[in-house]
Amino acid sequence: MSIQHIVTALPGPKAQAMIERDTAVVSPSYPRDYPFVMSHGRGAEVWDVDGNRFLDFAAGIAVCSTGHSHPQVVDAVKQAADKFLHISSDYWHEEQIRLAETINRLAPFGEPAMTFFCNSGTEAVEGALKLARYVTGRQRFIGFIGGFHGRTMGSLSFTASKYTQQAGFFPGMPGVTHIPYPNNLRPLLAGVDQGQAVLDYLENVLFQSNVPAHEVAAILLEPIQGEGGYLLPPEGFLAGLRALCDRHGILLIADEVQSGAGRTGKMFACEHWGLKPDIVTMAKGLGSGLPIGLVAAKKTLMQQWKRGAHGNTYGGNPLCCAAASATLALIENGYMQNAAAMGDYLLERLRDLQRRYPELIADVRGKGLMIGVELVTDSRTRKPAREFAERLLHNAWRQGLLLLTCGVSTLRLMPPLMIDRATCDEALALLDAAIEQTLGA
Ligand code: PLP
Repeated sequence: MSIQHIVTALPGPKAQAMIERDTAVVSPSYPRDYPFVMSHGRGAEVWDVDGNRFLDFAAGIAVCSTGHSHPQVVDAVKQAADKFLHISSDYWHEEQIRLAETINRLAPFGEPAMTFFCNSGTEAVEGALKLARYVTGRQRFIGFIGGFHGRTMGSLSFTASKYTQQAGFFPGMPGVTHIPYPNNLRPLLAGVDQGQAVLDYLENVLFQSNVPAHEVAAILLEPIQGEGGYLLPPEGFLAGLRALCDRHGILLIADEVQSGAGRTGKMFACEHWGLKPDIVTMAKGLGSGLPIGLVAAKKTLMQQWKRGAHGNTYGGNPLCCAAASATLALIENGYMQNAAAMGDYLLERLRDLQRRYPELIADVRGKGLMIGVELVTDSRTRKPAREFAERLLHNAWRQGLLLLTCGVSTLRLMPPLMIDRATCDEALALLDAAIEQTLGA
């Protein structure tokens, strides 16, 4: 088994030396979990600077959708780089137009779309919020407890998955009200159907007591809540939210920064529930690692922006657009189907693991390759196993498996979309060994 791919003590001597240099000069604010220092990667495999080989089930936080350095993506970037590196969004170029045409074809609106380009997820969310304010003339917004939308001031005002993201930065943008994201495993409201309970709370409590619905520009939602715990929406919730928005003239923004670009087995996660949002954000997996984000909106909305209303310097960079077009072609031509198939396989195998560790694993959930494994200290109280999850993350890395957590104590598996069954089996064996090691410690 792959333990032999770990060839030094971890972290190895070169990694330790680099981390020392980093500590002296790089911001300590990054939420780093364990000391993996990257040397290079191919597909779902990565090597550290000491020659240790790992399986990458974190994919650069769901970014390396086509695997590390996919030759077709690298080739597209090289070809673009040979022509020009930058011209700015004040001019036109074909890579950007081509990508916007693809997004128009793929966007989940059921009607024509227009696209605004930027460089990251948070910037995409800022653009979506600005568009919603601009076209509705309304100033209030609704977000969700557990939501994650980024760390710039607008998106941060919605981010509510860990208080450390907020501590020290108050005040943010005014007019944002958070409501619970429906979680049937950990209900915050009364009622068996938490989706309906949240809709009732919004309509019959919040809108009646505090927030005038006619002042709300948009609801910002992750169709599958990501950093908050990889939570799936209960059946009927998204349809109910759409109907509520339509009743009150509120726009629905689907933040698909993490769940989009084929990760869940469909191009956009909202398509699993037939949700047609008004605005959608993308980033992460869109560029296979090159920094690109975008806001796509119904054409009827985005064409209302006047010249100069919103812009940037780097958005639509030719290298990033070329990477995104190559990425979307690979996703459309097989990787999306592979994500669905490998996701089903992993879910099945992880449920076997849950049967082996029923006290530890309270839930296995996900769509495609966006999978959460929720860990608890005992299955009856379902108290989150926060400290255990942290140790498990370290032990998985020691075994040769890169993972991240989300929520309080949920492991998240988000490998590149090109993984195969053998890689899944190897990762599951490493995870199993890491669980044994953590339980034994
Ligand atoms: N929106 C969602 C749903 C995310 O998961 C993230 C990042 O994790 C962001 C926005 C912010 O993206 P970025 O880190 O590129 O700013």
